[in-house]
Amino acid sequence: MIFRILPVALALSSCAHRVSAQQPPTWQVPPKLVVGIVVDQMRADYIYRYWDNFGDGGFKRLVNDGAFLRDAHFDYAPTYTAPGHASIYTGTSPALHGIVGNDLFDRKLGRDRYCAEDTTRKTVGMAGGVGQRSPINLLATTLADELERRTERRSRTIGIALKDRSAIFPIGRTGDAAYWFGGGPDGAFVTSTWYTNELPAWLQRFNAERPAVKHLANTWDLLLPRERYHEVLPDDNPYEMSLTGTHTPTLPVDLKALYTSSGSTGIITYTPWGNTLTTDLALAAMEGEDLGMDGITDLLAMSYSSPDILGHRVGPRALELEDMYVRLDRELERLFKALDQRVGDGRYTVFLTADHAGVDVPAYLKDLKGSAGYVDLTALRAELEQHLQGRFGAGPWVSGILNEQVYLNDTLIVVRKLDPEVVQRATAQFLVRHPDIAHAYAATDLLWSDHSSGIGRALQRGFMVQRSGDVAFVMRPGYFERFGSAVGKGTTHGSPWNYDTHVPIFFMGQGIQHTEVVRRTSITDIAPTLSMVLGMTMPDAASGTVVGEVLRR
Ligand SMILES: [Zn+2]
Repeated sequence: MIFRILPVALALSSCAHRVSAQQPPTWQVPPKLVVGIVVDQMRADYIYRYWDNFGDGGFKRLVNDGAFLRDAHFDYAPTYTAPGHASIYTGTSPALHGIVGNDLFDRKLGRDRYCAEDTTRKTVGMAGGVGQRSPINLLATTLADELERRTERRSRTIGIALKDRSAIFPIGRTGDAAYWFGGGPDGAFVTSTWYTNELPAWLQRFNAERPAVKHLANTWDLLLPRERYHEVLPDDNPYEMSLTGTHTPTLPVDLKALYTSSGSTGIITYTPWGNTLTTDLALAAMEGEDLGMDGITDLLAMSYSSPDILGHRVGPRALELEDMYVRLDRELERLFKALDQRVGDGRYTVFLTADHAGVDVPAYLKDLKGSAGYVDLTALRAELEQHLQGRFGAGPWVSGILNEQVYLNDTLIVVRKLDPEVVQRATAQFLVRHPDIAHAYAATDLLWSDHSSGIGRALQRGFMVQRSGDVAFVMRPGYFERFGSAVGKGTTHGSPWNYDTHVPIFFMGQGIQHTEVVRRTSITDIAPTLSMVLGMTMPDAASGTVVGEVLRR
């Protein structure tokens, strides 16, 4: 009776209250699987340029169903693959996670050292040194590490990529496994004794099928009619390097002939089938590891390396590159369909981003009368050495130049009883007199003063005093180091300019709201945002901000 005389509004509200009290908060029902997808060297503008050639189930599904962060950037330099993957998954920048480049300059050895090199480990799955790798240089936790803690180590956390560094850093030091492409005649995927002493049975079966060799039976020709592509130059143009073993940078390419003549599956890494192979491995890992099959969240961190490997050779406007993205779009559709089927639509969460972007071929920009070009760092080093000798006496003063940073000879500075700051500043002052250098900072100024904007901020966030150089510099927009024999062809990345920092970020699936975010966001926001979806602590050094607009609540 009492219930009956309650006012209608009150009865409804108390009823609504009871219903919501029975529904657990979204973060108490986390997704069964998180799939992180990195597309190596993907620029944000590829979404706009290639839109009309995408199908409905790949990039367009991310835009139409998910959240698209349109002004997302790397907020540091150097913008390279290893720092990129480490930053995405740690939610912080190289200053704190320690992966300051693909190569680190070892002052004790006086030479460069690969960021994932670990000679105390052995290759698993193949003879040779391709597996002598580990995340030993990583100094902060990743999403994988935190997920393992959140689930009392019951999560399956797996990293896969053609490139070892792209498989290793996302999984952190305490994730389960990372697998990468070993190349050679059979094209097996391998790992390191850091993770295990034997490949899992599912990967042994996968390798035994020799999928790379099978894909190399293809001829690479355009997927769509030529007139649907956006390249305005002829396929054969002077800004592209041809694939190893071919004479012109043109399609079609007979992959079987290249495989037969080289005897190595390495050629697949330049082709769209490098991406196919990566999807194949992702699907095999999902099945072999039962990813997303129980109530405990798993993580599959995958990275498509081929867009970068091809992109370096042909630049961002090549016909070959557009064809690779059109085909990658179909790979994403295959991946999402498999996830729908295995895990269930709406029961997994995906994010997709890039580890850096890339610049137009400087020679092409120059020919358009743009401001662009190449800096000869070997000549620059010799001039700098001469300058420092003129000022401080006999050298050598320069130990190396790496990642747009000058490493000075610390031993000599101590022997001559010089103040390191004085030598650093003399170096920086010399560098900024070069017409193609925009700015230079002494390490001491990056260490002790706080740069809150612009290039200074980007360099500071990418700089770790124990591992980085003594002077960091930035070339002008459109310029990069003159390297190799093919000057004027192909591209690279590494700078703090928008063409290297601006990448797409997408979230889609469980816990995600369909939306478009146009305010400026950072790559370091991904890990904190996913920590909210997963109801867990953030990676320990994460410095990004949660992108609240994308959370479904
Ligand atoms: Zn690259």
